[in-house]
Amino acid sequence: MRLRYKPWADEFIKQNQHLILPNAEVYKGQWNAFFNNNHPIHLEIGTGKGQFIAEMSRKYSDINFIGIERAKSVIADAGEKIQDVGATNVVLLNEDASELTHFFATQEIDVIYLNFSDPWPKNRHEKRRLTYHTFLRAYQDILSPRGEIILKTDNQGFFEYSLVSLSQFGFVLTEVNLDLHATADPDNVMTEYEEKFLAKKQRIYRCRAQIK
Ligand code: SAM
Repeated sequence: MRLRYKPWADEFIKQNQHLILPNAEVYKGQWNAFFNNNHPIHLEIGTGKGQFIAEMSRKYSDINFIGIERAKSVIADAGEKIQDVGATNVVLLNEDASELTHFFATQEIDVIYLNFSDPWPKNRHEKRRLTYHTFLRAYQDILSPRGEIILKTDNQGFFEYSLVSLSQFGFVLTEVNLDLHATADPDNVMTEYEEKFLAKKQRIYRCRAQIK
């Protein structure tokens, strides 16, 4: 994603700390208390400009959503979108996913979404891929016993890499969809990247994986 410096982003984040939480580590193990209910918690990693999480939180008021996005300039856009839909079951963390276990306790999360994660195609950047085994270890730790990872991408190389990485780690693949939009899925909520790639007639891949 091309990142532009947005002078208003810092101010927006400062003014909206109820939505883009600073010091989120204090809620580790306490997220249900934070949301004041026992609803499942779904986590999107690399939320970008927030189209997916804003729509999901509007559509599913009985699920709590947390989005992690490390780029200030785009998380502010996501914050604005959430304000526009008026959802109260969603918060954002301006953090890096490599720190996940600082923010979430063992088995605290029910679903992890990896939407159009940066593919990092060069071998020397493998460790940055969000399906590299160090990330999978953190996902395994924070996911509930029946928890799942749902991954969508346009990038065939990243998709194949992720299928292998997930399987080798010990996740069970419960769906491998090689052309998500070949058939209509009324439950599919599109991300910004998904819309962009679909408009260019690029194929979208999806898989679901569960802890064994
Ligand atoms: N999910 C959005 C979509 O589908 O439209 C955005 C996709 S964009 C290609 C990937 C996003 O993930 C970027 O906004 C990037 O800053 C974020 N990202 C990449 N690595 C991350 C990490 N380790 N922690 C948090 N965010 C990350």
